[in-house]
Amino acid sequence: MTYETYLGLSREEVLEKVRAVMSEKRFQHVLGVEKACVALAEANAYDTEKAGLAGLLHDYAKELSDQDFVDLIDRYSLDTDLKNWGNNIWHGVVGIYKIKEDLGLEDPDILQAIERHTIGSSQMSTLDKIVYVADYIEDGRNFPGVAEAREIARHSLNRAVAYETASTVAYLAKQGVPIYPRTLETYNAYVRYLKE
Ligand code: GDP
Ligand code: FE
Ligand code: FE
Repeated sequence: MTYETYLGLSREEVLEKVRAVMSEKRFQHVLGVEKACVALAEANAYDTEKAGLAGLLHDYAKELSDQDFVDLIDRYSLDTDLKNWGNNIWHGVVGIYKIKEDLGLEDPDILQAIERHTIGSSQMSTLDKIVYVADYIEDGRNFPGVAEAREIARHSLNRAVAYETASTVAYLAKQGVPIYPRTLETYNAYVRYLKE
């Protein structure tokens, strides 16, 4: 894979920049998501370079401090309600601003897919779905339901989005933690695919 198109960097150069900002464990996860994104792109006739790069960068901001995220929310005048949430929501929605700053990434499709990778959206592009699902099913993931999610993803990206979102909403509700409104919008928009 070459990543010259969107960053002017080779894959090795992108890997070094990503490796520098996260733990080895998270770096391995990111490599797994890159691989899963490329496979899903091939299966769904999507650009593999774009999908792979989005996968490689999706958790770039995950290890920023809470204060770093609050500063980004202020500096870019983002919705102040974001301050009521935490790293889980921020690392995608706010993280894209860090990616733009550090790497100069400007491709709107890739940035949108990273922005949406945790919470989805009621109207997801093919790339949004690829990154959202790849994050959930990459080879390193090991949780109840992951085998079924992988099997579904081999047949239908929409159904995989629905399955993942329903599982995540159920998990969060079981934990008794707040669910971000856009996660529920994703659930409502895609749940019908579980019946098809
Ligand atoms: P990761 O970054 O690879 O660990 O995966 P994600 O970015 O998909 O998710 C990060 C965390 O956010 C996971 O623990 C999810 O369960 C959690 N999460 C996903 N959606 C929501 C939500 O709507 N609300 C809250 N509070 N957490 C969420
Ligand atoms: Fe993430
Ligand atoms: Fe991830």
